Amino acid sequence: MSSDCKYKFSWDLLGDIKAGRPNLGSNTRVEVYRLLQFAFRDVIEQANGTAETDRIFYEAGSLAGKEFYAHVLTPTTDLNEFVRQLQKVLKDMGIGILRVEKADVDKGEFVLTIAEDLDCSGLPELDYEICTYDEGFISAIMESFTGKKFKVKEVDCWCTGGRTCRFLANVEE
Ligand SMILES: [Zn+2]
Repeated sequence: MSSDCKYKFSWDLLGDIKAGRPNLGSNTRVEVYRLLQFAFRDVIEQANGTAETDRIFYEAGSLAGKEFYAHVLTPTTDLNEFVRQLQKVLKDMGIGILRVEKADVDKGEFVLTIAEDLDCSGLPELDYEICTYDEGFISAIMESFTGKKFKVKEVDCWCTGGRTCRFLANVEE
């Protein structure tokens, strides 16, 4: 994408929330977040089709994850410290409760679960996993930590009856 984009992301765009919302503060309701995400998904799908919509959500998640890692986490090369930090911020920010089921650093294989996920927990059951944005988000977090390219796929979701989201994260060859 060219550098003359009007809407190029920057962390500054999140604004000075303390100054801007002295009474309302930094929280909103989960419905508001989901309303935004699912309205975007509908409109983008109508304009671009399903596959392209999934690609856009994955890419957007990836951009968000990269910025999140850079601005919210403290750099570390220690896996346990990385996981501890990530668990804490995801919980503190109300994004979800992270568990690492498998972490094979040598093979580049990870299995992560996120319970009470911001995107999907409590949604009606569907016949597909919906956390495409999260897939991209996790891929960028893993890439930022390891310096290697990751592909992330959600294999269980609240929406497929899993009651927790489970993500396979693998280093791309
Ligand atoms: Zn999910």
